[in-house]
Amino acid sequence: MRTARLHEPGQPLRIDTVDTPEPRPRDVLVQVKACGVIPNMHAIFSGRLWNQLPPLPASVGLDATGVIAKIGSEVTDAAVGERVYVNPWLACGSCPYCRAGEPLLCSAAAFQGYFGFFPHSVRQMLDYPFGGFSEYITASPQRLVRLPEQVTFEQAARFGYLGTSFAALRMGQVGGGSTLAINGVTGTLGVGATLLALAMGATRILGLGRNREVLAQVKALAPGRIEVLALGDAPIADWLRGYSGGLGVDVLIDCSARGAAAANTAAALGALKRGAVAINIGALTEPLAIEPIRFMTGRLQFKGSNWFTTGEGQLMADMAGAGVLDLSKLATRAYPLAGINEALAEVQKRPGGLINIVVNPDR
Ligand SMILES: [Zn+2]
Repeated sequence: MRTARLHEPGQPLRIDTVDTPEPRPRDVLVQVKACGVIPNMHAIFSGRLWNQLPPLPASVGLDATGVIAKIGSEVTDAAVGERVYVNPWLACGSCPYCRAGEPLLCSAAAFQGYFGFFPHSVRQMLDYPFGGFSEYITASPQRLVRLPEQVTFEQAARFGYLGTSFAALRMGQVGGGSTLAINGVTGTLGVGATLLALAMGATRILGLGRNREVLAQVKALAPGRIEVLALGDAPIADWLRGYSGGLGVDVLIDCSARGAAAANTAAALGALKRGAVAINIGALTEPLAIEPIRFMTGRLQFKGSNWFTTGEGQLMADMAGAGVLDLSKLATRAYPLAGINEALAEVQKRPGGLINIVVNPDR
């Protein structure tokens, strides 16, 4: 089979031919139909960050969707032909966190086809050595999200970032009546948070971003419920309070990218309603100045959220299947496997969160 492999950090991926894997007795083999291409990949594959790359050359690709092609001899709850999204989150199952039922806190966590969070995460990446930019990958049945027929492979290839936003919105208990602010609303995470918050019943969504063209597209998703502000056009906290009855927002989802200015996040924190929660799902690295006394007197929270469970992935799939979650606004740009490096270059141009860049390894 063909697979895109990273041979050297910072260098283009190469399309190599390798043996098609056989699933282990408790695994499945998935024929990949689409795999998402996301903004962070270029930085991860540079090898210059803290992330632990898999042993090189490494087959890569994070958000794979496809059809089950073969099942291991001991697999009972999966069948050949099922349409699935493969949650790439690898939890070891035996560390203190996993034993306590907290796989997202796993102390050996890794992403199949992407990176490990710790040096000893490598063991798990070796168990599942193929990434989604391959014609086939192996996976465990516990990590499969079943896709309703209404959800395309290309839409589901966006589930990684969508799920990250979804888990944060659930952490913030967003629902009917919620007033929500999203900092970085024009990016991949921000647009996903907007689509999901609409589906979850948020009454008002206040988006902050820079790209005016994409801000207008976000506003157009639900003009009666969404307001947008181009950063710099008005003081952030005043603007947020103006659209939230003067009280402030119930939830702030911060999607700020690695190089963003922490000052914008700090300003948005100034518009939290008493009892509100701010949840970070971005990669902001600049230190953030807060006034702890405000968090005490207002009973405020600042939390982080990373990825999502397979159960949450299934909730999203079912919401999309029932028409509650509208993924039709995502505009797919699909590349064949041979175009993987062009796809990675395009996502670097930050075309905006409604553009969904995927690779179809069967082309
Ligand atoms: Zn673990």
